[in-house]
Amino acid sequence: MVDTLTPVLTANWGAERSWTLASYEEHGGYAGLRTALGMAPDDVIAAVKDSGLRGRGGAGFPTGMKWGFIPQDNPKPKYLVVNADESEPGTCKDIPLMMASPHTLVEGVIISSFAIRANKAFIYIRGEVLHVIRRVQAAVAEAYAAGHLGTDIHGSGYDLDIVVHAGAGAYICGEETALLEGLEGRRGQPRLRPPFPAVAGLYASPTVINNVESIASVPSIIAHGADWFASMGTEKSKGFGIFSLSGHVARPGQYEAPLGITLRELIDLAGGMRAGHELKFWTPGGSSTPMLTAEHLDLPLDFEGMAEAGSMLGTRALQLFDETTCVVRAVLRWTEFYKHESCGKCTPCREGTWWLVQTLARLEKGEGREEDLDLLLDQCDNILGRSFCALGDGATSPISSSIKFFRDEYLAHLEHGGCPFDPAASTVFA
Ligand code: NAD
Ligand code: SF4
Repeated sequence: MVDTLTPVLTANWGAERSWTLASYEEHGGYAGLRTALGMAPDDVIAAVKDSGLRGRGGAGFPTGMKWGFIPQDNPKPKYLVVNADESEPGTCKDIPLMMASPHTLVEGVIISSFAIRANKAFIYIRGEVLHVIRRVQAAVAEAYAAGHLGTDIHGSGYDLDIVVHAGAGAYICGEETALLEGLEGRRGQPRLRPPFPAVAGLYASPTVINNVESIASVPSIIAHGADWFASMGTEKSKGFGIFSLSGHVARPGQYEAPLGITLRELIDLAGGMRAGHELKFWTPGGSSTPMLTAEHLDLPLDFEGMAEAGSMLGTRALQLFDETTCVVRAVLRWTEFYKHESCGKCTPCREGTWWLVQTLARLEKGEGREEDLDLLLDQCDNILGRSFCALGDGATSPISSSIKFFRDEYLAHLEHGGCPFDPAASTVFA
């Protein structure tokens, strides 16, 4: 059982067989759906707008505003697609949510689809996590059997079908347009935006794509009201969110808290750093968000606070590294990941990530030159803002931020002729 400050999404994760419909309904589940079906769809959209909910997949785009972009005068079918392709390194909130409480997501899908007038919704889950796919499929089947899905849901006249789709295991398929390509049966590579999916998405029809946690937040907003949600968090980053802590912390796991909580507070909740060690660097939202250091422990973890610090809130994937970790080695491992996952569509990312790995690898081995640091920054400059999608930009974040804070550690590799850290002392990236 995890500690939480505002347990809503995680409230019943410790309940017996929490993933079943019986357990979910015993704890008040599907009350939001019944309320929503008694409302006009536009009023549901208005409630989500008023709550201030911003996308929980990383970018923080206002959810209600995105729903409002769906052109209702367009005669084409409307679709809801849930992005459950959680893959950002360090991010582990959607998969635990789908395992512990899949009905929170299913209820959210029904309410959200009702709001945008979609009769078909897709939950796109990354292919590697077969146990999650099975759990969500089982929840969908239970929802059909209980009359929460199908035709004329609870006598409202509203029909909805949900398809659970298994991805094929590529990080790029978490990019929303690459996800749509995959869903349509093509190779997962990003499409040009605009048009944004809200205008021309799945099968060129108006499509809302939202992250699992965003959709799972909707039932509680409808059940408790927009003001209740907006009373938590900060002025521009409302509500609560799941923060996943990993790395050198005493009790890693998911901590649900209001946006704006600080990392210092979260580390306290997680029992502190591992005994006898100190925080050296951390990522606010996975490796694609620029790393920060112990100087930033008291900044609010919200969209604005992280932007002011030169980073991003992203997916709230807080990866914590203590002083035993070699930052150059950590950055090399992340960069190898981006090189491997680059879809190859555009030159800056496809070629650039390859060059980043070559340059970093020789620096890490102590075989580089001092000029390699500027070369790395120049390579980043040629990728950032010049890539077709956010993957290329994200690949530069760990490099440029680590050189900003730890230039001396890069130079120490050159002076030492290799990594100056004792590999036996490090428990991460071993
Ligand atoms: P984005 O800011 O371009 O778009 C965010 C959302 O808003 C999209 O759904 C987009 O369609 C919509 N949108 C933006 N402008 C719009 C407009 N003018 N009209 C209509 N809709 C509009 O961000 P992105 O490139 O989709 O995603 C990048 C984010 O993904 C990063 O912040 C990163 O944190 C996150 N990410 C998450 C994971 C994960 O595993 N959850 C993995 C990698 C990256
Ligand atoms: Fe593909 Fe990378 Fe270009 Fe994105 S930035 S389209 S992942 S090659």
